[in-house]
Amino acid sequence: MTGTAPSELRSRMMRAVRSKNTTPELKLRRLLHRAGFRFRLHRKDLPGSPDLAFPSRKAVIFVHGCFWHGHDCKRGARAPKSNADYWRAKIARNVERDGRSLDGLQAAGWRAATVWECELKDADAVLARVTLFLGGSPMRKVQNFGDDRNKGSCVHCGGPNETVDHAPSVVLLDAPLPPDLPTSPSCAACNQGFSNDEAYLACLLECVVAGSADPAKIGREKIAALIRRRPSLAAELAALRREEGGRIAFSFDRQRVENVIVKLARCHVAYEINEPRTDEPDSVWFTPLEAMTEVQRQEFEDGGDDLAVWPEVGSRAMQRLLIVDDDAFGEGWLDVQPGRYRFRTSVDDGLRVRMVIRGYLACEVRWD
Ligand SMILES: [Zn+2]
Ligand SMILES: [Zn+2]
Repeated sequence: MTGTAPSELRSRMMRAVRSKNTTPELKLRRLLHRAGFRFRLHRKDLPGSPDLAFPSRKAVIFVHGCFWHGHDCKRGARAPKSNADYWRAKIARNVERDGRSLDGLQAAGWRAATVWECELKDADAVLARVTLFLGGSPMRKVQNFGDDRNKGSCVHCGGPNETVDHAPSVVLLDAPLPPDLPTSPSCAACNQGFSNDEAYLACLLECVVAGSADPAKIGREKIAALIRRRPSLAAELAALRREEGGRIAFSFDRQRVENVIVKLARCHVAYEINEPRTDEPDSVWFTPLEAMTEVQRQEFEDGGDDLAVWPEVGSRAMQRLLIVDDDAFGEGWLDVQPGRYRFRTSVDDGLRVRMVIRGYLACEVRWD
């Protein structure tokens, strides 16, 4: 600590106090996620912006650092060496604010629990306690969610539940299909509309990868057969191809590609996070993976949570994050079929779905 100006130290520690996505929090999130629990993060509309919220259970969890929130334990009792009065006052204010948050939550009908940093040394014990607090293991509930999700209304337009949509669409995958492909309720009109655009996108990507619209040159046999069966589609695809300065390029209908990407994202948020969103997303973005810079690629693959509030690089917390918690970046990618489709959902202040289609097209859809 010597050599650090008090003001600089203070602002660094202030940030540490306020930060979301701290190491203990990430640890608990991963523990609960693996156990099958699903939750929202840092809900600003609830008193104290609880770290984890379980809306269907009307329950929240705070993850507190022992020192900063005055836990009655060894770490919590540690006395700061310098500026002791300042820190004592600061911690007292935190404790007071925590109390007010708990009161506010209770008044609003929410149950709240605090998980302390020191408790996380015994992961099994924490999981047992939290499971009890939340009213039981999620496994049965996940099953029920699954049933409910498939009984609901069309995830795209809120219309009638007439059929199911697969996410990812079957046309994007090859046989044998992975078991238990997630499905979401859909109305017949949406389902039909999407299957045309999905076939369009699947074919377009094969043509781009092959550099040709000729079925004989297409890699995926299923798509080659589809193009052969549909001469009008074959003609449409052939018309997209052009040569530009010795390079082969395909122009395409951006709207049709976006339709598919948003459809997939809607299915994923409805199924994975139980958050059906029929409203328009705040952003839709896609680009070939190979067109990304290394930094963009890294951010796309690993950028899980709010990077802006992470500890500074080189700080001890950051080292722990990188060394002990090597998979600290959110909940990770789900590889539905290698080289065909992978995706990742994250929930923070908003919902975000990232997808890679055909190992080629990187996509992101956000609802803020
Ligand atoms: Zn403690
Ligand atoms: Zn619909």
